[in-house]
Amino acid sequence: MNAFDTSISNQRVRVGRGIRHELCDELINMGCARALILSTPGQAQLALDVASTLGGLAAGVCSSATMHTPVEVTEDVLSYARLIEADCFVAIGGGSTIGLSKALALRTKCPQLVLPTTYSGSEATPILGQTKEGRKETLTDPKVLPEVVLYDPELAVSLPELVSITSGLNAMAHAVEGLYAKDKTPQTTQLAWQGLEAFSKALPLVVSNPNDLEARETTLKASWACGAILGSVGMALHHKLCHTLGGSFGLPHAETHSIVLPHSVTFNEIVVAEQLAPVRYALGGDHAGQAIWKFARHLGAPMTLKGLGLREADLDHAAEIAVQNPYWNPREVTREGIRALLQNAWAGNAPTI
Ligand code: NAD
Repeated sequence: MNAFDTSISNQRVRVGRGIRHELCDELINMGCARALILSTPGQAQLALDVASTLGGLAAGVCSSATMHTPVEVTEDVLSYARLIEADCFVAIGGGSTIGLSKALALRTKCPQLVLPTTYSGSEATPILGQTKEGRKETLTDPKVLPEVVLYDPELAVSLPELVSITSGLNAMAHAVEGLYAKDKTPQTTQLAWQGLEAFSKALPLVVSNPNDLEARETTLKASWACGAILGSVGMALHHKLCHTLGGSFGLPHAETHSIVLPHSVTFNEIVVAEQLAPVRYALGGDHAGQAIWKFARHLGAPMTLKGLGLREADLDHAAEIAVQNPYWNPREVTREGIRALLQNAWAGNAPTI
């Protein structure tokens, strides 16, 4: 990926090995003096290490970020942020930590600086998904788009293989659905070409050598491109279906995306084959959905919703919910069509055209 065009948003985005060491200067440039450092429990040590480099600029560390951004967690951390008089949030981690940071920024209007360590792309969007009483709601607000993003490939080398694969496929899903979005632009299509090509080459390198810093850098840049697409155009069947499976059945975010993507693309390909040319170009083959399925299987991605714990008996209900709230999709979404798609994704069958 040669170009790294960030003009699509007014975010400050910097990439480089060791760039995390410039966090202090970046915070001072932002006019911040009391940062609250955020992470998941699994990345608590990293958050403490980073905080220790900030001296008095770090007002506190909080490592309670969790998937799907539960409102109760946000409210707890908000009380702490107010207590320590935090004036900005530093999120170190993936979409879960960035989600917490966004939820806090929305409530406080404080700026955010993000050091992403997965490929979710959340840092590039003004979108926040949060869960209240078991229901996940999504909102878009310019205030939740982080002001500064620092991509340090050295922070991604510890990303476990499975998360690297599924998170990469999650990012590719943003690009793929951007290709046939109703409101796509030449710029988002260009970003999709770049993002898909970069992941197709660099994700296998990351899997075979997690310490390959060049490949880590390429995949992080590609995740920004894919995230920027998600933040700029409307998503369709694939994202809605994953939202349903995550929200109503508690399935994990990135794994669900990586399992469903080949099947949802195959469902739509019949009407948007031309728009999906960049997928075939990046992954080879005559059929985009099948090419993604083979790519995922070759990488060692999970291939079945059954393996995530979804019961076959839940498929009817899932198909029902997926068609309840109508949304735009290039192909008409029917209950029967979704049920057949889900059966294949549940069992791990190759997608059927
Ligand atoms: P995640 O942030 O939950 O991270 C997955 C696991 O990997 C966590 O346990 C984390 O601690 C660990 N981890 C992350 N980076 C690591 C590293 N470098 N080394 C070791 N461990 C590491 O997973 P995710 O897929 O990045 O994010 C999922 C969440 O993001 C979901 O809640 C999803 O809804 C949200 N999301 C939001 C948007 C948006 O635009 N709003 C976009 C994509 C995803």
